[in-house]
Amino acid sequence: MTIDWKTAESWLMGNAWVGSLAGDHVSMLCDTIGTRWGGSDGERRAADYIRGQFESFGLEDSAIEEFDANTWETRSASITLNGEIPRQLDVRPSLFCPPISITAPLVDVGFGMAHETEPLTAQLSGSIALISGSYEPFSPAEPLTNRLDRLASLGVAAAITPYAAGGRRTTHGSSSDWRDNRPSTVPLPLVHTSREDGGLLSRTATGNSGNVTVTINVDASYKTAVSRNTLADLPGETWPDETLLLGAHHDTTPDSPGANDNGSGTTVTLETARLLAGLKRETGIGPGRAIRFATFGSEEQTLQGSVAYVKRHYLDEQSDPRPRIMINLDELGTGSMKGVALQFPELRSLVQRALDDSGEGLRCHVIAQMDSSGDMFPFARAGIQSAMLWRWRFVGRHPDTAFGHSSSDTPDKLRIRELKEYAGLLARLLLRLSHVPPSDWPTDQLDLAAIERRIEDERGSVFRTL
Ligand SMILES: [Zn+2]
Repeated sequence: MTIDWKTAESWLMGNAWVGSLAGDHVSMLCDTIGTRWGGSDGERRAADYIRGQFESFGLEDSAIEEFDANTWETRSASITLNGEIPRQLDVRPSLFCPPISITAPLVDVGFGMAHETEPLTAQLSGSIALISGSYEPFSPAEPLTNRLDRLASLGVAAAITPYAAGGRRTTHGSSSDWRDNRPSTVPLPLVHTSREDGGLLSRTATGNSGNVTVTINVDASYKTAVSRNTLADLPGETWPDETLLLGAHHDTTPDSPGANDNGSGTTVTLETARLLAGLKRETGIGPGRAIRFATFGSEEQTLQGSVAYVKRHYLDEQSDPRPRIMINLDELGTGSMKGVALQFPELRSLVQRALDDSGEGLRCHVIAQMDSSGDMFPFARAGIQSAMLWRWRFVGRHPDTAFGHSSSDTPDKLRIRELKEYAGLLARLLLRLSHVPPSDWPTDQLDLAAIERRIEDERGSVFRTL
């Protein structure tokens, strides 16, 4: 099939701007529906909306796939600094924090590195530790999970992390390592406080170690709930049995409207689908291989949606052809598109050629470590070539988007025109990749045992967030 690329790409970029639905999607997902915690009614409504949009664009076989998610809910939480006058502090439990009710001595463990905890060993058993969630700058970076594991092994009963930025803010953090097989198992109860109250705790503990007590109460429980993935297909004309997959998670943390994380990626997935379906309908130019669009639930709850999707489609029944590449969209409000970051090196030159053909200066990179911070990870773990977008690592991240996992992740922080650009550029990239002949596409089978060994080797390392 000979493609008139100029016509196709002009159509895609023009329609990415004029007639864009990006603002409508953001407003529906974040303002009208609001929080979309996996397994909640908000998530169900978001999935219904996304599927309805896929259908209205003329995609085929649009569907919602339900799965049982291990979820968590919290009803109340408090941190009290006990003293002459007890003080209630800013508080937010970390995701999957177990229920706890405890009063114990407070010990400031700094970053919780071995050289810091070693002299405190005698005081730590049964204590509440104040620990910085940041990386200690003078040593090789150690994940928070490992440092919390260390505290748990020393008998610490619970931990408090202050938020790094000021302004009495807290966000929902995670204390587990998502590379683990049971990632929702947490090392110990962890609650967050603001930087300001963290400072108060640190000042109070200093010089009074063992004599200051703190009370933590968290009323929380675990349950199973139905969460949802959505999917729809744009058929391929030349190689109908081959697919590319574009995906994003549609869920949020419990109280976040999730504009950047991840109304942005969901919106761009919808817009890219609308553009490619519209191009086919109006110009007759369709993809060579099929393109599947998917959105995942419960990503914020240790990637459960993409894990369920990969299991159902490629591992259990193996009914679907594995995608030649999966591209994950997450937090696109953080900066403009700079390129693609692959999890494995085999497709680097092929993807770079497709980017070069668009002439937009985009780059294809290969990340040195497996990145378990998003929905590309379960695909990579199953031996599927997968990628996320390269956005801000080496040049400025938009400051307005540092509000993830909190109620402040609202649409006013997004730049809608940038989302339009993402959709246009991704539609062009996917169309080009869909027309790369199979003979030019490296098909080296990825070695699943080698991938698991690599994940195990990298378990104690901090991966570089893109
Ligand atoms: Zn996200």
